[in-house]
Amino acid sequence: MSMAAVQIRKDISQMVRPPERITVTEASKRYVKVRTASGGVDQWDANLTPYMVEPMNCLNSREYDAVVFVGPAQSGKTQGLITNFMAYVIKCDPADSLIMQTTKGTARDFDTQVVKRAFRDSPELKKELAPGSKSDNTYDKVFKSGAVLFQRWPSINEISGKPLKYVLITDYDRMTQNIDGEGSPFALSQQRTAKFLSRGMTLVETSPGFEISDPKHKPSFLHEAPPCAGALSLFNMGDMRRYYVKCPECNDYFMPPPAETGLDFIHDRDLFGATETIITRPVRYVCTKNGCLIDVKHKKQMNQTGIWLKQGMTIDAGKITGEPVKSRIASFWFPGVFAAYSDPTAMVEKYLKSYREYDITGSEENLKTVINVGFGAAYLRRNLAEIESSSAYSDRSEALNRYFVPDDARLLLASVDIQNGKTGRFVVQVHAIGKNMEQWVVDRFDIAFTEREGKKCRVEPGVYSEDWELLTHKVINSSYKTSDGRKMLVHAVSIDTGGNGNTTDYCYQYYKRLRRLKLSRKVMLIKGGSNDSKSPIIPSYGKDRDGRKMLDVPLNILNTNSFKDKVSAMLNRTVTGGLYLHFPDWLPESFYDELLAEKRDVNGKWGKIKDGSNNESLDLSVYILALCWKLGLNDAHFNWEKPPKWALPIANGNVRVMDADEARTERQAVKKQTKKPAIKKGLTHTQRLIAARQAKRRG
Ligand SMILES: [Zn+2]
Repeated sequence: MSMAAVQIRKDISQMVRPPERITVTEASKRYVKVRTASGGVDQWDANLTPYMVEPMNCLNSREYDAVVFVGPAQSGKTQGLITNFMAYVIKCDPADSLIMQTTKGTARDFDTQVVKRAFRDSPELKKELAPGSKSDNTYDKVFKSGAVLFQRWPSINEISGKPLKYVLITDYDRMTQNIDGEGSPFALSQQRTAKFLSRGMTLVETSPGFEISDPKHKPSFLHEAPPCAGALSLFNMGDMRRYYVKCPECNDYFMPPPAETGLDFIHDRDLFGATETIITRPVRYVCTKNGCLIDVKHKKQMNQTGIWLKQGMTIDAGKITGEPVKSRIASFWFPGVFAAYSDPTAMVEKYLKSYREYDITGSEENLKTVINVGFGAAYLRRNLAEIESSSAYSDRSEALNRYFVPDDARLLLASVDIQNGKTGRFVVQVHAIGKNMEQWVVDRFDIAFTEREGKKCRVEPGVYSEDWELLTHKVINSSYKTSDGRKMLVHAVSIDTGGNGNTTDYCYQYYKRLRRLKLSRKVMLIKGGSNDSKSPIIPSYGKDRDGRKMLDVPLNILNTNSFKDKVSAMLNRTVTGGLYLHFPDWLPESFYDELLAEKRDVNGKWGKIKDGSNNESLDLSVYILALCWKLGLNDAHFNWEKPPKWALPIANGNVRVMDADEARTERQAVKKQTKKPAIKKGLTHTQRLIAARQAKRRG
């Protein structure tokens, strides 16, 4: 407290009054006047914001140490919780109190725009100010009772000191959450009011400002807010009161979400995929109980029916039941769509406009503001929102046995991605392909270990040429079980040629060895490109170390952006059939994370949403789709009714399907062929190169 304030306090003679035992709402009705829209002054009316009554009345309840109110702008929360509570303190329970603002500047503005106006419009409050010019400073108000109202900002110097009975924190989520390393504004305020025990009170009011940290978090309670810092985490520490209104269509009570999903509107996209901003049909409320659509003109009337329910309580046919959770914090989260002074249609307009801005520019600050301040919801970064949707894919997974080929499959295709270094491995994915390229993931595995000189070692495709041999048995000649007890051989394999070290060279060498074994016809070597060519695959050739074309190593340059668009379109299919991708239920969650790890930018280029994240399942799906293209399965002339023998139905003469015995003989034959060591082990890299060259000369 400043010296001036102390002096004034000494000067005033009025004795401290005992508290006037009325509610904050009663006090507000009695003592607070507000400006009307027409410029006149009128008594504050609880009916305009009926949902503020309960939070206000918790402020002087000895049941609570704190009241937390999270809600949108335009809800009358500053009037109800700050101005009205200040009036209550001045008139009914004079005590030292503090209003904490985000900065010194906002504290000064708040004094001009809110506090001074309240004194000007409400004579009952003004007459409580102590006489003399020094009683009404910008940051200190001294009253005849001797009580002082401080207006401060988060700085340890400004808010530590003598005990305060009431601390009112406004715009909490826009405030530093660690004041000079001493703790959160809430924790420091609680220290200030602690001396008053149950008579002290900390108020927090704000719209949400922090981002949801974990989009996959599954709430334990119906009323729980998503994981995010700031006031919503305080909300979850409290008794978690949510707002319910009565639906005029079905007469049931429902809990409007504090999000844009509380409104029904069309979110269309233009030809370029950007959000359309024109509203083509009336915006309506959604009754989340029975799905009714409600005209927004019913807002005021619905607010008259509104009730707050603590976590644990339910309302059915107007009857409240259940055991509420207990907490010393009364916490409220109010949905923006029911804010008294907002217009739902205008909110949707703002939402679509800012969404369009995000679609076109990638900037999401305005969208975040609309969600936070307009709808009163916590914001989820759009890239995380896309990760969240991965659960939608895992949710549609089917009970399919691993290693089994579905009856409708016509062929099996595999793809191989290369990883080097500490996590060196081949990553393999196998899809069964049905009519019209309907697909099922039948296998996904890593080839991560091999044996070198009797020891188990990491596979390193860019360091050890012989590691590539692992692909022959495990992928190229692999087979999967059919439901009739036979086996289906993998028809073709696409292999990525890119990687660190000697990956590309070793891959080409491996391809040449496969050629000698007559297995190269099953293999498509690929290289990712982002060429703008209309053709999704450009045929080319591998090059040797001197940059010469190797005509015996055909290489396919993929337009990966174009194939990623195609995979994305496959994922968007919701009806089974052509180009639908079936997920078996044994796939781990990480499979979906990888599948959705990339995002298409406005120029049509795909890139990782988060640096360093894995995207193998996306790449491997791209390679398999490229194989489909290479085989001509996408061609309009490909006749699924009269296909080549390798694409016939399993039960109808498919040449890749064989009895278990046949498969074994075939495998052994291949094993015999590949037993000739193509590369001598235990040689240095240079020795190996020389050996390879000599072998070449020998023909
Ligand atoms: Zn309804």
